[in-house]
Amino acid sequence: MTETAAPDYHQMWAELGLDLPTHDALLQAVGSMYGDAYLTQANRPKGTDYLDFVLSEVHGLRIKELADFRKSGGKVFGTFCLYVPEEIIRAAGGWNVGLCAGAEFAYDQVEQIMPRNTCALIKSATGFKLAKVCPYFESSDLVIGETTCDGKKKAYELLGKMHNVWVMELPQMKRPEDLAMWKAEIRNLVKKAEETTGTTITAESLRAAITEVNDKRRALRRIAATCTADPAPISGKDRLLATQVAFYDDVPRFTQMMNALADELEQRVANGQGVAPKGAKRILVTGTPMALPNWKLHDIIEKSGAVVVAEEMCTGSRYYTKLVAEDGESVDAMLDDIAEKYLDINCACFTPNQGRIDDVIQMAKDYHADGVIDISLQFCGLYEMESHNVEQAVRDAGFPVLKITTDYSMEDVGQLSTRIEAFLEML
Ligand code: SF4
Ligand code: SF4
Repeated sequence: MTETAAPDYHQMWAELGLDLPTHDALLQAVGSMYGDAYLTQANRPKGTDYLDFVLSEVHGLRIKELADFRKSGGKVFGTFCLYVPEEIIRAAGGWNVGLCAGAEFAYDQVEQIMPRNTCALIKSATGFKLAKVCPYFESSDLVIGETTCDGKKKAYELLGKMHNVWVMELPQMKRPEDLAMWKAEIRNLVKKAEETTGTTITAESLRAAITEVNDKRRALRRIAATCTADPAPISGKDRLLATQVAFYDDVPRFTQMMNALADELEQRVANGQGVAPKGAKRILVTGTPMALPNWKLHDIIEKSGAVVVAEEMCTGSRYYTKLVAEDGESVDAMLDDIAEKYLDINCACFTPNQGRIDDVIQMAKDYHADGVIDISLQFCGLYEMESHNVEQAVRDAGFPVLKITTDYSMEDVGQLSTRIEAFLEML
């Protein structure tokens, strides 16, 4: 058998303006983290080969696809948050990629322009930009921010000095007047997307985009549903990775591959085949999103012998559970449907946010969780503050809870492992 040499993408990265030595170091670090967290797992479903392939080409093939798309006149939109509807970007002929970064990088440079006590997600995204190591950022013709938390609002002002950034105004409550304001803002996004791509959204293009993105969410929902079984047929780590990949992969291809994975998982459930033995402790994780390549908590939990059966987070159920209605007859009706679906996401930037607590309890029941781990990124005022109410309500509903505050560094892995092992023993 002859081995095919891996393609060399250095020329493409140089054209994007990346800092090549630093970028090489990043890729090497991510590759070794991936090997340690993912390739050491036993009993992985065959369908996860696709995720391995995507990760091996994370800054390669997909970036080449984006480059080819842009060469043919296409526009790429970078986004940081669930509240930016990808249906609108796609309907205007654009492609959407998620930008949130999940690794500690260039913090020395970041801390020169923002406070040390900023959450890891913001620092990481800014660090990737300052160090010129994110080809997704550099491939984005327009970065769309949103007024969610204060840290992000201010970070967009700083990022706006380095890149083409446009910010959407998100309400902080869900009253009828907030929905009316959000519907208007969704129309502002339509204008911005059309202006950027030069393509007008039509009822046909919007309907097709809604169906396409719903299909992607339906595939992820099928995968999630198989994890109500004991034993769970796929690890939480692989399921988390699938959701992370959903933010930047080609939509129809990803949907097809995830449906194939779901077919396999349904078969594994029918055969009683799992990644961990039947009876392994089942954990529901809730809290701040885990952007690629943040696999730290899942890795610790699953290496301690438990299995993460679901994530109530933006890189989890908040992303794929709710769908946009598919019966809107006009562009206007469909935009209203999009506005309603997106405002229904339960992020801690809203007050009150009882919907999230209800979701956590319902999911703990549906996935037969033995315990709930509530994770906040350090310095995330929203999720750290909300964790008290979450803990109390989940405990009152009869589920043991462990509260964790952490960041992206590996320094607390030993301490977290000890706490998690003690929690699992207590269940
Ligand atoms: S946690 Fe809130 S602000 Fe962060 S990505 Fe999710 S919806 Fe957006
Ligand atoms: S983790 Fe918290 S502070 Fe950080 S970007 Fe998300 S909502 Fe903002």
